[in-house]
Amino acid sequence: MSQWLPIEEIAEKVRSGELKAVDLVNMALKTIEDKNEYNAIISTTKDRALQRAQQIDSGEKKGRLVGVPFIAKDNFLAFGAETTAGSNMLKGFVAPYQATAIEKLEAEGAICVAKANLDAFAHGSSTENSDFGVTHNPYDKTRVAGGSSGGSAAAVVLDMAPFALGSDTGGSIRLPASFCGCVGYKPTYGLVSRSGVVAMASSLDVIGPLARTVEDTALILDVLAGRDELDSTTIDRDPESYTILAPAKNLKIGVIKEYMGEGLDDGVKNQIEVSIAKLRNSGAEIIEISLPSLPLSLAVYYIICPAEVSSNLSRYDGVRYGHTDKSAKTVEENYIKSRGQGFGAENKRRIIIGTHVLSSGYYDAYYKTAQTVRTKLINEFNEAFKTVDFLIGPVTPNTAFEIGSHHNEPMLDYLTDIMTVAANLVGIPAISLPIGSVNGLPVGLQLMGKQHSDRQLLALAKQTEELSK
Ligand code: GLN
Repeated sequence: MSQWLPIEEIAEKVRSGELKAVDLVNMALKTIEDKNEYNAIISTTKDRALQRAQQIDSGEKKGRLVGVPFIAKDNFLAFGAETTAGSNMLKGFVAPYQATAIEKLEAEGAICVAKANLDAFAHGSSTENSDFGVTHNPYDKTRVAGGSSGGSAAAVVLDMAPFALGSDTGGSIRLPASFCGCVGYKPTYGLVSRSGVVAMASSLDVIGPLARTVEDTALILDVLAGRDELDSTTIDRDPESYTILAPAKNLKIGVIKEYMGEGLDDGVKNQIEVSIAKLRNSGAEIIEISLPSLPLSLAVYYIICPAEVSSNLSRYDGVRYGHTDKSAKTVEENYIKSRGQGFGAENKRRIIIGTHVLSSGYYDAYYKTAQTVRTKLINEFNEAFKTVDFLIGPVTPNTAFEIGSHHNEPMLDYLTDIMTVAANLVGIPAISLPIGSVNGLPVGLQLMGKQHSDRQLLALAKQTEELSK
């Protein structure tokens, strides 16, 4: 049982004076302290959080999230603590402004209490690439929490706050949600502003909530969604509230053939099949759908993502902000030393791969080919959504793996993303829902919808959540 009520109820009770924002913030901070050994949190924003809570308690209690504590992945620019993106490169960096997402949540009265651990610059699937140490899985401390939003997912499951924010470039919200056993939502590309979030791969990056229930998730999305003049990639939101979770009738759902075959753990497969059967019994029409280019999506992702990473990370030059090696005597030495010390092995690997696939001799062979296949993938998904309303399948082939078991094998980490990257390449909304466990470890179910179908997708997720109770 969670110590947190549904988010809407918390805000209601703060408004009516039954609950005090200060007590809620203290409850979050105490849980963070008590469960420190999981290393889900990089820093707390204690002083600022308590100050905001006091202001709320002594003033007008306005806003849909009034007094509700939350945790932001540490790649969100937020006041009250450093913003490190999990990297030595940004240690000591104090944000001069806040991410739009944080501003929107604060405008509704929510209170950021801490910054969550992540793989440095969100490069990874296990939080093992964090320069602040690995996050441990709440169900088994010897296993990873997933990544890169491992800290956010673990924090929600460890009950540190009612919800957390994450970023998802190739699965980083859904994968840790699946490994830790909470809901993780990746919105349609552009639905939520990324202004003030440390960029990873700009054509793939989205941000979204991790929470305990679909209802809480939908409420947070409703606050976050919509155009932002500070992010020109943002799109119009649904005119209706994302919190309308009415189940649709006559749904047609496609089981993704390519995700249900070889390489999928038997226990995970079984859980997914149970969920599919429940949806069928509840009246949905279930058919198998094949997306022939899907097996290429991982290769496409690991070309396009590093290409964009190499470009986005070029701003960390040791001159303007971030880590600087002060002993350097020339500009070139400063670049080499500052970047050499500030970036971790995975960051460097991506910069090298990215600059290679963009270099004039290899551009056509790698980058251009990858973009061509990306378009093919988009066309195949568009075709599929002419036949079915939603797609269903696993989030990952396995449950959480042991800490250290992928050591020095980046390919094993990359393979973890095999079922999540497509949604980013295609820009569609996708959710990871906890549906059960295998050998005591949580299993997530993935549902995907066409672009802009976020509201309908959340409604289906709600229905599926009820069925798996
Ligand atoms: N695991 C993927 C990667 O390392 C996805 C990361 C993410 O979504 N931030 O690229």
